[in-house]
Amino acid sequence: MRVLVTGGCGYVGAHTVRELSAAGHEVAICDNLSTGHRPFGEGYRLIEADIANQDVLAKALDGVDAVLHFAASAYVGESVVNPRKYIHNNVESALKLLDAVLASPARLFVFSSTCAVYGVPRTLPIAETAPRDPVNPYGATKLFFEHALAAYSVAHGLRSVSLRYFNAAGAHPDGSMGELHTPETHLIPLALQAALGVAPPLTIFGNNLNTPDGTCIRDYIHVSDLGRAHVLALEYLAQGGRTTCLNLGTGEGTSVAQIVLAAERISGRKVPYSYADPRPGDPPALYADSALAQSVLGWRPQFDISAILSTAWNWELRLQAMNHRL
Ligand code: UDP
Repeated sequence: MRVLVTGGCGYVGAHTVRELSAAGHEVAICDNLSTGHRPFGEGYRLIEADIANQDVLAKALDGVDAVLHFAASAYVGESVVNPRKYIHNNVESALKLLDAVLASPARLFVFSSTCAVYGVPRTLPIAETAPRDPVNPYGATKLFFEHALAAYSVAHGLRSVSLRYFNAAGAHPDGSMGELHTPETHLIPLALQAALGVAPPLTIFGNNLNTPDGTCIRDYIHVSDLGRAHVLALEYLAQGGRTTCLNLGTGEGTSVAQIVLAAERISGRKVPYSYADPRPGDPPALYADSALAQSVLGWRPQFDISAILSTAWNWELRLQAMNHRL
């Protein structure tokens, strides 16, 4: 298939581009490079534009069968202090993208959604049927877009899969790419950078929570496993699959303290840390029931937490060697 990937120079987008081309799909990337990295798009047709640019999108969509949409703002904390940015990028611009898609023949759409649509879960593991009650603007904007896709499916025949990721983590096994956010706020890169001494000691948010070791539990899913799920979602839609939303996680909860121990084991170094209060709105535990994705897509995660940490560690070493410049 010919596919357009918005945000294909970002972390999950770029890993998905690799999986798409490995599966034989012809990929073009649309990325405004506001947070994406040009080298991640090397070897692919890169349209350097914003998703709200209707003229560019109309041309980019010529001959395209499907769109995979990653371009978005994705910091929970930032969304609380600057909700307008999130409404603008994740809703207004994303709806313009959908206008361009509707004006084109493409009728298949895969959306990068998030477990933040659930807010604080009442039961664990979280299934797709759990109440969607986001507790921050980031989750709210992603949920709004899921609703738009559901409505456009009924009204316009635009079939879609919204993939609700849990904690994307790890790096490409070949060492060519991985997580590089500015600023970095995510646990695994910060723990590994603290081990290397290139970031301050890790702050563990919360050590007295209602979890077995008192620290937060999350479901870390390898970014290449996410990429493969997108390819499978695309193929599901191409075979006539109906519009749906699917969780992508391993179903395994890992605590912050367990991540610190794993980071020490993989790196062979100590991770210096201190404790602080939990982040406001951070649920103590989140992990997925991803049985639906497994049955609908035939998807199984292939990387465990050790593989996540060791690919992330290789990537951090490479970033250090490159002085954090790609
Ligand atoms: N976390 C932490 N210290 C940090 C960053 C994160 O203790 O410097 C915790 C955070 O409270 C959460 C988990 O690590 O429980 C994963 O956080 P991250 O920001 O990586 O992803 P999120 O779950 O917020 O999407």
